[in-house]
This record gives sequence, structure tokens and C-alpha cells, in this order.
Amino acid sequence: MATNPNLPRLRHFVEQMAALLERHPQEPEILSHGAALLGELVAHDDWLPDAYAQPHPQYYQQFLLHADSLARFSVVSFVWGPGQATPIHDHTVWGLIGMLRGAERAQPYAKNGAGHWAPSGETVTLRPGQVEAVSPRIGDIHRVSNAFADQTSISIHVYGANIGAVQRHVYLEDGTVKNFVSGYTNPTLPNIWNLA
Ligand code: FE
Repeated sequence: MATNPNLPRLRHFVEQMAALLERHPQEPEILSHGAALLGELVAHDDWLPDAYAQPHPQYYQQFLLHADSLARFSVVSFVWGPGQATPIHDHTVWGLIGMLRGAERAQPYAKNGAGHWAPSGETVTLRPGQVEAVSPRIGDIHRVSNAFADQTSISIHVYGANIGAVQRHVYLEDGTVKNFVSGYTNPTLPNIWNLA
């Protein structure tokens, strides 16, 4: 897909995100301006190196592409194998999801009257070039899946923290909440970004 990856695209995005956050904007501006920047990045599928586009037969993959030196944001390639899905989960910080390849479905969840986690609102299907946002302010709990049962899909995620080290939560349908820290898939990441 990207044998000679156009890395300047990713670099431009990282520079623009850092410049945006340098101005200390409120979250609505981060999400609206950041969504426009991420939309530009995922408008072209020619920059993601193949090493960060590999699915695993069993697990969805989360490859760290960039961690901001002040942990103001991180950029991850989220690689779905056919039919793979997340549990119901939250993020605890703002997040932007831009579809690069294939498609994914996101279903928001909320607690119902019986205290169980249940689908709430419409399923959103993201297609290449499209971007959606999450945050504790606008809705942070969802379940996401590859829209395809027979092909890999890839989305690019940007979060307002070093997301691999953030303490967050998985929600079971019976109402149970479990703590989790996602980490990163990268096989060679002998660096500080594995730590909180
Ligand atoms: Fe998510």
C-alpha cells in the first residue's frame, strides 16, 4: 500500500497538532480544528508504513506513530483484522478517529434504567476520509468494530494524552466496570512512552 511512504504528510499533521495545542485552546476548538487536520491526513492513503498496517489474526492492533514530548497528544494506527471488535470502553480524554482504509462501525453506549450498558443512539459508520470525535464531554463510551468480515480496516486515532498509558475502563453489559490500560502493540518500543 505504501512501499515508499509519504511521511511528510504525517510530519505535517504532527506539527499542525502541536501548533494547535501550543495555543491552549478549549476542547471544542481542539476537536473542530483537529478534525480538519486529521481529515487532511486520512484523505490520502499513501503515508502509513506497512509495518504499522499489519493486522493480527486474533487481536486488533494499536501502533504508536507519534507521542508528543509533553504528552499533550498521541497518534496511533488502529488496525482491524476481519470481524474484530473492541469491548465497550471509554477514553477519559478527547479523541479523534480518522478512517484511512476500509470502514469501521462505532456504537455509543449508555447505562439503561436497569443499570446495564446498552446501545444508545445511532451506529456511526466511518469511511475513508471521515473523522469522528469522542470525549467525556460529548460522549466517551462506545464499542467499535471492523465493518468488514473479510478485510483489514485501518483508522488513525489522536488522543489528548499518551493514550497507551492512560487508566481507563471496560464496561460489561451487566453493569460491571473494569480498569484497563491499553499499552501499544509496537514490538520495539523500548522507550518512555510505555509508562504513565
Ligand atoms: Fe474508542
